[in-house]
Amino acid sequence: MEPIFTPDQLAEIKAYSLPYYIRAAVNPFIYVGFLALMLGPLNGPFYRFAQATAAWLDARLGFLRTAPVSRVFLRALDTLWGEPGWGTALLFSLFVDLSLKLVTAPIDFYFGYILEHRYGMSTYTPLGYARDELKQLLASVFIVSALVLGLYGLARRLRRWWLVLGVPVALLMLVAAALDPYRSRAFFDQTPLEPGPLRTHLTELMARANIPFSDVLVEKTSVASNRVQAYFAGQGPTRTIVLNDVLIREFTEGEILAAVAHEAGHVNESQWPARIASSVALVAFLFVLDRLLRLSAARGWFGATRFADTRTLPLIPLLLYIVMTAAAPFSAAFSREREREADRYALRLTQDPATFRQMLVKAARLNKMDPEPPRWVVIKGLTHPPIGERIADVSTP
Ligand SMILES: [Zn+2]
Repeated sequence: MEPIFTPDQLAEIKAYSLPYYIRAAVNPFIYVGFLALMLGPLNGPFYRFAQATAAWLDARLGFLRTAPVSRVFLRALDTLWGEPGWGTALLFSLFVDLSLKLVTAPIDFYFGYILEHRYGMSTYTPLGYARDELKQLLASVFIVSALVLGLYGLARRLRRWWLVLGVPVALLMLVAAALDPYRSRAFFDQTPLEPGPLRTHLTELMARANIPFSDVLVEKTSVASNRVQAYFAGQGPTRTIVLNDVLIREFTEGEILAAVAHEAGHVNESQWPARIASSVALVAFLFVLDRLLRLSAARGWFGATRFADTRTLPLIPLLLYIVMTAAAPFSAAFSREREREADRYALRLTQDPATFRQMLVKAARLNKMDPEPPRWVVIKGLTHPPIGERIADVSTP
């Protein structure tokens, strides 16, 4: 059997992957260390700076409290928060969030731009890269603000806030999957795949798999990256097959059908265990946060003088990170098993192991996937089995 990579290709992929492994090993310490500083020695200075900035803004922008539209908005925030002071909370969390981004900015730029360009993976122009980074920054400012005001605002007003907030959000998470065809459109243009043999054969394949879908879209990710990608978005009537334009450019029709057959293998997976588990985990997470906030208030941890004190806000990302890191090996192990099952499903559907293998080999070369990543990287949270294993699995009859 032909090797997946030439020795040169393999050496290049190893050189490309190594910095990512180093980052995976070092990042947890940077993240947890930063948040520990924010809950410890830097907590007071950041909090006082947020207070001073809020007071300064209040003095300058006080007229907004009486202006027609902003008046209603600001009063609603006062009501939600239960008292003045939401401005300090908002600024404190944004300062913490932006400081972390500033600290990691050189690392992020190295990985997101320099390394990806050096190995020909990224096609971003500096402007395109800056624009997408800015979009992400604005999204994170919005999410942090909504989280602080919603979560702490509610926690201050309701005793069982973790149930009042957790249950509806958990239910929302259950239906959120139906919305995801719209998520990636914020970044890339999508156009329907033009009529032709590929569309006809994809439709036939989906009919044989007995999977309804609404459309096949081509996502123009080539403005950002040279990676191939295919995925299904949405469910049932909203299900769309999304192929990126790099895949259309690089893959033969048979290889595209093989990739879509793999994605089809994910459709009939039972989503409920994972969804129910994550909903329960969310409510449990909020409950634990509630207990921690009560303890902080009672014992005066992190300078807290009351329940849901603004100074305890860095506890949320810290707790979230610990839970996610602890859960990642388990969810990744389940995910790898589902990927193997989707590969087996695709082989049953297409009855063409040779083309399926060729598709995996091509994807591995184009996306520069390490066929044999270190074991700890796999265990820590790799969602797909190493590509070398997947190719070996389809190569043996
Ligand atoms: Zn998959």
